[in-house]
Amino acid sequence: MAERILIVEDEPEFAGLLELWIGRAGYEPVVAPTGNDALRRFYETHPDLVILDVALPGLDGWQVTERIREFSRVPIILVTARSSEADKIRGLKLGADDYITKPLSFPELVARVEAALRRASTPTPDRPRRLQHRDLVIDLDDHRARLKGEDVRLTPTEFRLLAYLVEHAGQLVAHRQVLAAVWGSGYDADVHLLRMTIRNLRLKLEAIAPGGSYIATEYGLGYRLTGPG
Ligand code: CA
Repeated sequence: MAERILIVEDEPEFAGLLELWIGRAGYEPVVAPTGNDALRRFYETHPDLVILDVALPGLDGWQVTERIREFSRVPIILVTARSSEADKIRGLKLGADDYITKPLSFPELVARVEAALRRASTPTPDRPRRLQHRDLVIDLDDHRARLKGEDVRLTPTEFRLLAYLVEHAGQLVAHRQVLAAVWGSGYDADVHLLRMTIRNLRLKLEAIAPGGSYIATEYGLGYRLTGPG
């Protein structure tokens, strides 16, 4: 069954092109022209991924991301006309999985959609189904992470990143290594994306275990999963 992709874009011509490319890549596109329509279509069609323009009439892309994140971990790729770092940071802070800047390359967008769906899919069964590091438990079968027995609500990308860190607990994992393993090839240089996702992950862990500092930064090199104290 083809994965359903919700495309939120108010410019009809551009929306048509996105629909064409997504359809051609083998997915089922659903198009919404405004933020309000996007939420309505989201409830109706339960998409597997959302491609979301930031500049929309009415509810903008930031607000739509916030609303969707209240109840869903579906991958969100933000499309922004602005290339400013501040916009990217804002999107990732709100829980988007990835962003792409206009004018965009459609093949690149399709590659990012594929990568995001792969991150959201269930892991291969030859891996251990449960990972544990101190009071952090990763259940690979139902995509759940628990810290001190409490559910950590993660996006698919955050989940994969945490699972990867737990798998390599205590080891230094280099930026490129994590990017290739979690995001896939073509992301090796996207250190900014990694940094923001680590930041979100830390916030979520700290919300449950304040001061627990699980993820240590090895400056200029990468990260290391440590325990508290
Ligand atoms: Ca727009």
